[in-house]
Amino acid sequence: MSSYKIASIPGDGIGPEVTNAAVEVVEKLAKTLGTFQINFTHIPWGTEYYKKNGQYVSDNALDELRQFDAAIFGAVGAPDVPDHISLWGLLLAIRGPLQLYANVRPVRTFPGTRCPLNTATKGIDWMLVRENSEGEYAGQGGRSHIGQEWEVATEVAIFTRVAITRIIRFAFETAQSRPKKHLTVVSKSNSMRNGMVLWDEIATSVSKEFPDVAWDKMLVDAMTVRMVWQPESIDTIVGTNLHMDILSDLAAALAGSIGIAPSSNLDPTRKNPSVFEPVHGSAFDITGKGVANPVGAFWSAAEMLTWIGEKDASDKLMSCIENVCAAGKVTRDLGGQCDTKEVVEAVCAEIEKLK
Ligand code: ATP
Ligand code: MG
Repeated sequence: MSSYKIASIPGDGIGPEVTNAAVEVVEKLAKTLGTFQINFTHIPWGTEYYKKNGQYVSDNALDELRQFDAAIFGAVGAPDVPDHISLWGLLLAIRGPLQLYANVRPVRTFPGTRCPLNTATKGIDWMLVRENSEGEYAGQGGRSHIGQEWEVATEVAIFTRVAITRIIRFAFETAQSRPKKHLTVVSKSNSMRNGMVLWDEIATSVSKEFPDVAWDKMLVDAMTVRMVWQPESIDTIVGTNLHMDILSDLAAALAGSIGIAPSSNLDPTRKNPSVFEPVHGSAFDITGKGVANPVGAFWSAAEMLTWIGEKDASDKLMSCIENVCAAGKVTRDLGGQCDTKEVVEAVCAEIEKLK
């Protein structure tokens, strides 16, 4: 029987509430199915850790993580620490060095969840691929004349042929594996005349390797309109770090709630452990109230199971989650009455039926 070592990094805010819920559900699944073993190791990185140790992660964080097959992560960010410090302290400190260059975000309306789009669509079923290693979030630039009237700040976006090529190729492969075999490449090559033009050029050249994938190019501003008005014309989308950060929040909201959206930070070469996390953040407005929607964390855990090779278990977990949503056992963000614990219990009860 396969056995997996998974790091659990709950982080801040509602991160621990939803991550612990996901651990409970996956442990229950493994025990019930009896087809694989899974061991979670808790890692306490986050803002509390930072306040005690002056840094968000341990000195040998990367080596520590490399001992695991994968990691699940909750959220990072606290009201009393500037977001750019917490984000760079934890998440970006891991993503970059581990070369988790593909951020994959499935977006799907669940039975029972409200899709705010007033269209004839049956709902949304998209796959979003975000470049996760460079671009606008490369952290390059600086500030001069700080505090003066003539202060200048630069934020330099970095685009390399290597990184664009690997993410575009990954996106074409992803699109190819889906029934619709369609990819939209998003950029902003009308107003950004260097990196974005390179992006478009590489898309055109990589597309020739995938004659069976239909594809189109779209400016990111026009894409927001298309997502609302022609959702059925979309299948897989690929774009830069910044563009897909924004589009994936929009997509998650269109699908019903940011609380259900999962994401995978993948190293497609599989040299390093990939990291799976819900799209939502630490959400301090609801922290400690026990009402956080754990479905984004569950779905992220299901993506993790698929990635490590337990596709069957992953599919079963997803159908349990969908049954619970269809029965209306959902949290308030989805229009329901349940708290986190009740959703966990409902999913565990569904898992019990798999016996
Ligand atoms: P970040 O700065 O990391 O984006 P955030 O605190 O801004 O984090 P978001 O994740 O962006 O929080 O979420 C915005 C709002 O959506 C939250 O303030 C919360 O009210 C709601 N929300 C987010 N995630 C959930 C969830 N899992 N369940 C219920 N409501 C949620
Ligand atoms: Mg936010």
